[in-house]
Amino acid sequence: MTFNDFDLNPLINKAIVQVGYETPTPIQQKAIPIILANNDLIACAQTGTGKTAAFSIPMLNKLAAKKQDGKIRALILTPTRELAIQIHENVIDYSKFLDLKTTVIYGGVKQKNQVTALANTNILIATPGRLLDLMNQKYITLKDVEILILDEADRMLDMGFIHDVKKVVKAVSNKRQTLLFSATMPKEIKKLAQEFLTNPMNVSVTPESSTVEVIKQELYHVNKNDKKKLLIHLLRTDLKDGALVFTRTKANANRVVKLLIENGIEAKAIHGNKSQAARVIALQEFKDKKIEVLVATDIAARGIDIDLLDCVVNYEIPNIFETYVHRIGRSGRAGAKGRAISFCDYDEREYITGIEKLIKQEIPLMPVNCDLDKVELFKSVKTPRTSERRSSDNGNKIKPKKPKEKKVKGISGIRVDKKSDESKENSSEQKASKPRDSKTRDSKPRDAKPRDAKPRDSKSNESKDKRFGRNTEKSKSDNQNFGGNKIKQRNARNFESKNNADKSARKVQRKG
Ligand code: AMP
Repeated sequence: MTFNDFDLNPLINKAIVQVGYETPTPIQQKAIPIILANNDLIACAQTGTGKTAAFSIPMLNKLAAKKQDGKIRALILTPTRELAIQIHENVIDYSKFLDLKTTVIYGGVKQKNQVTALANTNILIATPGRLLDLMNQKYITLKDVEILILDEADRMLDMGFIHDVKKVVKAVSNKRQTLLFSATMPKEIKKLAQEFLTNPMNVSVTPESSTVEVIKQELYHVNKNDKKKLLIHLLRTDLKDGALVFTRTKANANRVVKLLIENGIEAKAIHGNKSQAARVIALQEFKDKKIEVLVATDIAARGIDIDLLDCVVNYEIPNIFETYVHRIGRSGRAGAKGRAISFCDYDEREYITGIEKLIKQEIPLMPVNCDLDKVELFKSVKTPRTSERRSSDNGNKIKPKKPKEKKVKGISGIRVDKKSDESKENSSEQKASKPRDSKTRDSKPRDAKPRDAKPRDSKSNESKDKRFGRNTEKSKSDNQNFGGNKIKQRNARNFESKNNADKSARKVQRKG
């Protein structure tokens, strides 16, 4: 099949040839004819499948068929500014020979330039918060919208935008065609679709919530404190072409960047506290291979589109399982081979259990094939603050700051909070409203017994050591895998019988 088979406007075909697409991807093959036939559509497609072109190309075909009158005729609603910018770039590419004006608006920047750019716009790409702001200020009316596209609907739900989305949809004329794209199809999205779509057709390119198959996934069990060394080791050996590294929080993204720079690896972070300009520069430098590593939080990474991204590293495992699918979808885009490496410490193993359930496969466990104790890390020397110098001049001892202990949530095996750690950090880019209703799918306790309560398989320690390629006499290498079997068994016991232990402790106290 080729794009010619869709019988598109020749000017759109010309643009497609210029961007270098030869064959429509599966989602394009399925979705484009349905949209061209004016149907509403629910499409279950992950990022990286070519979904942007799947909705943009038929949208442009429909808009180009009518004379333009400077009104907003198509609206694409998307959760993050990165994604909005990405879609904007794609639509500009596909419409370069058409007489259509496309504008993108998103929060986090001043509205003035965006308001100016809105004049005579035909296609508007927007994040929900900024769109509502400008609608409330009467800069935008959506009454002429003929096609409404809700992109990454599940993500908008996760980010707490659902009420904003509903308000926007209600402001659009009922005579519209509505397309809903989502990587996953939770109940709430199905409900939303029922409410806002009319007799929709359904297409799905991968089974719900399944992982992009071309991606080679690898899992490393590693102590939290050894993650730095493992990352440096891999970047020095196996990942010399660099990688996109994910952390759960903005603070950790900064820490990883600092670590990499101290160790001679060029790196930059993108997250909600970085200005839009800084994010764009970092992304461009990564695309141009001026920096080897881009460290990103999930929200900032949404919409990152880098061709031929070899490897994604999950430095921290996401506590929202679907996020794993989104993250690794950065690699292996449009059918290219990809690789996703996950570093999992003891506390994160229940997340892996949840992820594996979601993707319906076990992520292959890799042995840490080096002695992490021998990996050297460099640290920049900190100049003490003036006040500290003064007090030490006076002979006063400076008390070292006690490191804050971070509580690990969700250890009970129940997914208590759907919001990511990054969201909890109160990201400025999220106009997050209420957290999701606790009665949604998250309230269902997950398999109460994480696989980690037991060793990964029930084989003896000896055979497991063989599987890990370890020297059984060497306790050091045990350390690389959750601090040795004794600790592991102890932790597992503690983990499993925490409640019982608490109860019996209380009993003993009462008896005493
Ligand atoms: P998306 O899923 O929309 O984020 O697209 C992922 C990547 O696939 C982007 O880099 C697109 O430019 C690319 N792409 C989309 N459609 C095609 C196609 N038919 N052939 C080759 N690449 C494509």
